Amino acid sequence: MTLVNFYSDTQTRPSRAMLETALTAEVGDEQGGLDPTTNSLCERVAELLGQEAAVFLPSGTMCNEIALAVHTRPGDEVICERTCHIINFEGGGPAAISGLMTSPINGEHGQFTADQVRGAIRAPGRYAPISKVVAVEQTANHGGGSVWSVTQMAEVVEATHAVGLIAHMDGARLMNAAVAAGLPAHAFASQFDSVWVDFTKGLGCGVGAALAGSRDFIEQAWRYKQMWGGAMRQSGILAAMANYALDHNVDRLAEDHALAAALATKIADLPGVAKVIEPQTNILLFDLAPDRPTAQDLAETLLKEDVRVSVFGPRRIRVVTHMDVGQADADVLIGALTRRLG
Ligand SMILES: *Cc1c(COP(=O)(O)O)cnc(C)c1O
Repeated sequence: MTLVNFYSDTQTRPSRAMLETALTAEVGDEQGGLDPTTNSLCERVAELLGQEAAVFLPSGTMCNEIALAVHTRPGDEVICERTCHIINFEGGGPAAISGLMTSPINGEHGQFTADQVRGAIRAPGRYAPISKVVAVEQTANHGGGSVWSVTQMAEVVEATHAVGLIAHMDGARLMNAAVAAGLPAHAFASQFDSVWVDFTKGLGCGVGAALAGSRDFIEQAWRYKQMWGGAMRQSGILAAMANYALDHNVDRLAEDHALAAALATKIADLPGVAKVIEPQTNILLFDLAPDRPTAQDLAETLLKEDVRVSVFGPRRIRVVTHMDVGQADADVLIGALTRRLG
């Protein structure tokens, strides 16, 4: 039996058509700026995000860590939401690599307000760490793939820039936000000092992300790319697949969002489900009632039926829709949940 995989949109496999673009990609030495396919991908991403330039990197995590390294000095502080990737899923990278403190904001659905930013920014002085960067996540994973509105984001960026701080966007799922909001990605991204998109989530690639910003910022980012071993050679084989993803896999994200919404309706009706957080994109979070199995126990029993979901808290389950799951898989998931919770 094949795995019905709602664990994450990272589980997507490159399609044959996507892989085939690698066979004919024009390639060169990326470290020397000589890979034409990677160069054209970077130009395209810069334009997509309303930025001057971009750099291709192996992962989104490296985008976040390089951006933070460029923007800060040891002892500086990054303001971000308590549940964000930078704090929780990068192995302590900001502290280990760049000597940074993080200042977590208790947001709502993974988002925070301009007032909360103003409250978190420290007064300059000899004693406190220096507030330097404000980082937002679009969409907010732990917020259930929630979409920051253009207005809320603009207010946060304005509060950040007003006192000379730097605004960074973790745009792992920015394209999901753009499709859900019916807006071009640059409507969210152009005001940021640095922003990146991931090709390995809903866009379906096997490797790659691109970090964008001013020409000067990208020049500095290249130093760390080289230093940390992220500079590549014939990366055009990967960039070709990312280009394919931008051509073919963006608009279809709407299907993932529709499937998540349909699943939410069904799951809300199941006995033993205490709460469903209405999905805005492709991430669906729900909580199990206290008299039901824990999220861990449920996930383990589902896996015995070859259905995979992720555990996001003692009673919280995350279900993520993506291009490699469809209606038939959704039916299998609902069937399995009904048996386990009914
Ligand atoms: C996946 C993810 C990342 C990291 O991206 P990788 O390409 O897996 O390193 C960063 N931020 C968010 C919100 C993510 O979901």
